[in-house]
Amino acid sequence: MTEAANILPANDENLSAAATRLKSGGLVAFPTETVYGLGADARDDRAVARIFEAKNRPSFNPLIVHVLDLPSAAQYGEMDARAQQLAAAFWPGPLSFVVPRRADSGLSLLVSAGLDTVALRAPAHPLARNLLTRFGGPIAAPSANTAGEVSPTLASHVAQSLGTNVDLILDGGACAVGLESTVIDLCGDRPALLRHGAVTLEQLQDVLGVVDDATRPADGQAPRSPGQIARHYAPSIPVRLNASDAVAGEVLLGFGSGVPEGVQNLSPSGDLTEAAANLFAALRALDSPEHRAIAVMPIPETGLGRAINDRLRRAAEAHNG
Ligand code: AMP
Ligand code: MG
Repeated sequence: MTEAANILPANDENLSAAATRLKSGGLVAFPTETVYGLGADARDDRAVARIFEAKNRPSFNPLIVHVLDLPSAAQYGEMDARAQQLAAAFWPGPLSFVVPRRADSGLSLLVSAGLDTVALRAPAHPLARNLLTRFGGPIAAPSANTAGEVSPTLASHVAQSLGTNVDLILDGGACAVGLESTVIDLCGDRPALLRHGAVTLEQLQDVLGVVDDATRPADGQAPRSPGQIARHYAPSIPVRLNASDAVAGEVLLGFGSGVPEGVQNLSPSGDLTEAAANLFAALRALDSPEHRAIAVMPIPETGLGRAINDRLRRAAEAHNG
């Protein structure tokens, strides 16, 4: 028997119920002017891990963090003069900035997929803004669909795609833009467009002068996907997978109940959501030159385990030539 998804009209009562859900680590789908987002508290590792679980994503991609305005964005990322100019021109609206993460941001490492950068956007949709105001914090939200499906522009699309994997769906009618937000990378000297969207390259160039189009392959190079541009976080020391033990000089990263005491453990109870929530913080904690390598105990290749193993394999390969 399939249970029906929890679609509610976006009135005052349900908006406040949605904010309460977010505060207790729940998942709430809500309309933005681009597409419906699958939202969670961006500071809560467990809640963010649940996003990946609900979408059945086979890998951890960085997520866009939704905020009300420039001052709130500046709490989480370095909003330089270029970001301020762009925000003045296009926020609130369908434009996301990838900027350096502030060390004191308090954001989950999982929203950045372990990177030192964060994507920030202030959406224009009145219901998204109403929810942000009631919640009073940053909301991580990718599109509210299962991995590989098209983005939802109606509450019923979300229900069809995610069913009861989402705690509550706020129905705000059809999304006006129906296209994902434009993504611009402001981490380097030259601004770079990472994803096309409703705000065009020409509009960005009008404000900033030069903006590189990183969505197109440079001459003689393979096309760059957003995932490649994001660069994957990898520890500076080697990672060895499916280890039963640490050998000389290695440090062990455990999973499950059979882990020796005093060893860092992704989840003593073998819970993959907890393991995903702890992954990047654990890797960073063990990434020290005093160790020769990080030896990671086996993680089951099911559910979120696939995304965890995908990230660990990339980290392992980063040191294999
Ligand atoms: P979605 O949240 O599903 O709309 O997708 C987010 C988009 O923003 C993807 O194309 C990501 O690769 C990109 N993105 C988010 N955060 C970062 C980041 N820290 N660095 C680079 N790209 C990012
Ligand atoms: Mg998507």
